[in-house]
Amino acid sequence: MLKRILLIVIIFFGCFTCFSNELIEKDSSKSKTISFKIKLQSAESIQIKVAPLKYNKHFAYSFTLDDGYRSTYLTAFPLLNGGKISNSDKNEWKIDQGGDGTTSNGLFYSDGFGNKIPFKLALAVNGGAIRDLPANRGHLSWSEIKEMYNAGWDILNHGFHHATKHGTNYLTEVIENTASIKQNLDFTMSHFVVPGGEGDAGYHLEYEKDALANGFFSVASYTGVGPVFKVDSKVNLDKMITARTFVQSSKDTTSFKTMDRYLKTLDSIVKQPNSLWFNEFTHGTGNTNLWNLSMRFPDFKYYMTTIADKYGIKGNDSIWMAPWQEVYEYIWLRDLIKIDYKQKGKDVEVKIVIPEIPEAFRYREISLVIDTSSKFEIEFGKDLIIKDDGKTSHKLVHLKLK
Ligand SMILES: [Zn+2]
Repeated sequence: MLKRILLIVIIFFGCFTCFSNELIEKDSSKSKTISFKIKLQSAESIQIKVAPLKYNKHFAYSFTLDDGYRSTYLTAFPLLNGGKISNSDKNEWKIDQGGDGTTSNGLFYSDGFGNKIPFKLALAVNGGAIRDLPANRGHLSWSEIKEMYNAGWDILNHGFHHATKHGTNYLTEVIENTASIKQNLDFTMSHFVVPGGEGDAGYHLEYEKDALANGFFSVASYTGVGPVFKVDSKVNLDKMITARTFVQSSKDTTSFKTMDRYLKTLDSIVKQPNSLWFNEFTHGTGNTNLWNLSMRFPDFKYYMTTIADKYGIKGNDSIWMAPWQEVYEYIWLRDLIKIDYKQKGKDVEVKIVIPEIPEAFRYREISLVIDTSSKFEIEFGKDLIIKDDGKTSHKLVHLKLK
């Protein structure tokens, strides 16, 4: 059975009409071809390109919280997604994983069409540590993780027990964690983050090997590529091993100087003319600097709020604040689709060949940059949502494939 493809096209300005001429073809190699028509108002020449990043943003910033600490749900999630941030909350380790008790409206960038999208992070979790009790547990529960996953946060494999020491069965750690998340939350993780800690020299190489051999698309480790990736041209995502860098609070609890240093680094990356992807990590986000490897909540709030004010919808709106898996999947698809278009006067026929997309992918989306001085309409199938913005001067089409 040919699966129907839902295409959501959102384009800027003009008035629009829809026709049922959506066309889906299938060729011999499990790839699919979708096509649509662009009707120009005048016969100006058109150029269609895939946007380097979703919504044609200037840079993507991915941020992962390691180890599945409860502070994620008590503080980071409500701050970014909107909601009540927990008051001080001493957990079973006598550590304050709460925040400042305020209510956040959320932190947002826009999709370029006037819609607000909340900042989303990834969590690297250990299935062996996830539990529902006691009430003051230090780790997340299944339902908390599910809620964040459903809000678009990515869940990454961090080993079943966070085991690193001599004698660890790395393969079992990888596989058991996959099975645990699949069993309890019903999805398959596809990216691995090597647990840090004391271990045999080069133990991370074993984790890398076992994860890549067992269905994981990328591994964040001690050494590797990144944390900044140029994404203007094809990115080598195949069996990707990345270097992990952390944002952490210092002993200074009286100023935000440490955070300002990290922000300055981020700003120097953002100022480069290329489209870039920047990837960072921390651990806890509660009031206490957990294991001295975390961001204290005031630092985390200052850091994320400053980023939102500067590069989010309240600022220059240049950020795509999206977790690792979401960005990886966009770039993977972006680099493998083939776009072909033919213009005859005012009519443009666009064909896009889509490769077979791995089942573990959460996203099947592509943004197209349309370069023409003419206004246009788009002709599509009935499964189409068109949104008129009209506030900006460039043209963007965003496709969602099902
Ligand atoms: Zn860890």
